[in-house]
Amino acid sequence: MDDCLFCKIVKKEIPAQIVYEDDKIMAFKDINPAAPVHILLIPKKHIPDLTALEPVDAEVIGHLHLVAKQIAEEQGVAESGFRLLNNCKEDGGQVIYHLHFHLIGGRKLTHLC
Ligand code: AMP
Ligand code: ZN
Repeated sequence: MDDCLFCKIVKKEIPAQIVYEDDKIMAFKDINPAAPVHILLIPKKHIPDLTALEPVDAEVIGHLHLVAKQIAEEQGVAESGFRLLNNCKEDGGQVIYHLHFHLIGGRKLTHLC
């Protein structure tokens, strides 16, 4: 989508610190990290939020989780643990409407909410 920030990162129109990329997904460092490790994983396809997911997207979302595991290992948080989370729409605190998952770790996280 033309006016979507993360689509612009996918098209390399906006720079990002990319840590993983293939034909289906991309992972890059969050610009405002909440913890020592804070990476965003996104499908390259513009899916606005989790409620817009369709059965055809199942494979890419499964793949994204396997890559999240790989990135957690590379970032050194697979042993200590981490959080993978999606903020969905207004009450979920979503700001950018291109589906993304936060991989957060490197410190002890407090409980949800
Ligand atoms: P959310 O609230 O789940 O929509 O999270 C959006 C996230 O995108 C926030 O953690 C922001 O810090 C992050 N963010 C915003 N702009 C950029 C950018 N240009 N590069 C990397 N991360 C970004
Ligand atoms: Zn987008």
